[in-house]
Amino acid sequence: MNRLLQDTFTKELPQDPTVENTRRQVEKACYSLATPKKTSNPKLLHVATEMAETLGISKEFIGTHEFLEIVTGNKVIEKSKPYAMCYGGHQFGHWAGQLGDGRAINLGEIVQDNQRWFLQLKGAGETPYSRTADGLAVLRSSVREYLCSEAMFYLGVPTTRALSLSLTGDQVLRDMLYDGHQAYEKGAIVCRVAPSFLRFGSFEIFSVRQDYKTLKTLVNYTLKYYYPHLPKNSKASYIQFFKEVTERTLTMIIHWQRVGFVHGVMNTDNLSILGLTIDYGPYGWLEGYDPEWTPNTTDRQHKRYRYGNQPNIGLWNLYQLANSLYPLIEDAEPLEEILEDYKTNYGLSYLEMMRAKVGLFSKHELDSELLEALETVLQKTETDMTLFFRLLSTIHKNDTPAAAITKIKPSFYTPSALKGTVLTRWETWFTNYLKRVQNESLSDVERQEKMNKVNPKYVLRNYMAQLAIDKADEGDYSLIDELYTLLKNPYDEQPSYEKWFCKRPEWARNKVGCSMLSCSS
Ligand code: AMP
Ligand code: MG
Repeated sequence: MNRLLQDTFTKELPQDPTVENTRRQVEKACYSLATPKKTSNPKLLHVATEMAETLGISKEFIGTHEFLEIVTGNKVIEKSKPYAMCYGGHQFGHWAGQLGDGRAINLGEIVQDNQRWFLQLKGAGETPYSRTADGLAVLRSSVREYLCSEAMFYLGVPTTRALSLSLTGDQVLRDMLYDGHQAYEKGAIVCRVAPSFLRFGSFEIFSVRQDYKTLKTLVNYTLKYYYPHLPKNSKASYIQFFKEVTERTLTMIIHWQRVGFVHGVMNTDNLSILGLTIDYGPYGWLEGYDPEWTPNTTDRQHKRYRYGNQPNIGLWNLYQLANSLYPLIEDAEPLEEILEDYKTNYGLSYLEMMRAKVGLFSKHELDSELLEALETVLQKTETDMTLFFRLLSTIHKNDTPAAAITKIKPSFYTPSALKGTVLTRWETWFTNYLKRVQNESLSDVERQEKMNKVNPKYVLRNYMAQLAIDKADEGDYSLIDELYTLLKNPYDEQPSYEKWFCKRPEWARNKVGCSMLSCSS
């Protein structure tokens, strides 16, 4: 890990001249130096070996005490300058001012196989951006971030990654449900990895403060390393930059909708400039298909970040980014055009993605209607999204509607609702669907094979993560490893893990951590 010497971020961007670790407003700087807090009794719980390999970190080194010390913040790698990034953000639709890495400390950059990776310790203690909080993270939220970021990667969803999950040996005080009941929990650190942790809010902060000089420096830096194909530092390249960020954001959200992932806190400080899923907090997975669902208790009332609203919020956030870049471009029209195109492109990409999910690989003008009807009927029987789409691939062209319903029925949470008009609606839907499938040139086997590449068999259901957390809390980390292994091949049949291909058990319906989560982490 001594290759952490390449440090473009700290070398090329302005540094906060104050070096004390005191909370403050940091002006005209992209980062502040910050040293991770010493941990009292660190313990490595899990290492993502594939991620380590990608970084060029050897198995031998992972086994050393030095590795443990580095990923838990006790050892600062020679010549590296750990730091926290300055950013702002719109939270729940309102400008929140300076936020920044309040509990994430960047170790530096590794370049391996021409790919730049930033390493960051989440939960490593206070920084100038910690505001009123402690800079720490607890085991439950760390297990969730660790498992989910890797699971998303294997699902093919653009995401930040994780290298390791550790306990700090320290206790952390949290009010998990925000109901006045504080309790100590085990402290933990995830070593996160990403080509960049820059967010929309990284740019917004300078624009809001009218510090266009730093804004320009940061945009030029981003272009140099992440959009090198764009012409250098001109208005035209800034417009193109915005266009590409828009496209990447759209692609990411299409993937979220495809796998049923609900981010939960799509504030602009949680949207990556590279279109990566970032900051796994009170996220969740759709179980019963429901566009109105949000996992985040803080958002219970307005449901701003509900599943069905993610594309709109993506666009809303892009508007904020466009506003931030405007001072460098001084022409609203091209930005507005890009934002307009997002709407059209989203519609087209969504249709394409949904066609693939139901196994239609040619186009028909009535497909939108067919898919809309499906989204309605899925909710009538409270249908498990993951199970439904996977079981749909087992249907044959020549099945009767009744036979098709029997095949997908295990995905219903309320099979008793399958009567009267609901039954008729399902029968009608399958009659239309089967007719449509009969016009496809693919055989049943070929269609199934293609469908199974876009419809995962296994996702990190909310209750699964909670089971792993409950065991880990008792000192048993086996389920973390089991889920990690399972989710490395989410599209494959894994007979020994068939127990995870099932609906959420009833006990988990309203259990904390299994259905709704607070931001407390
Ligand atoms: P989030 O909604 O988790 O993305 O966090 C929003 C902001 O709060 C970011 O600036 C975080 O760094 C900060 N934050 C969240 N939790 C903590 C914590 N325990 N200590 C310090 N800062 C925190
Ligand atoms: Mg965040």
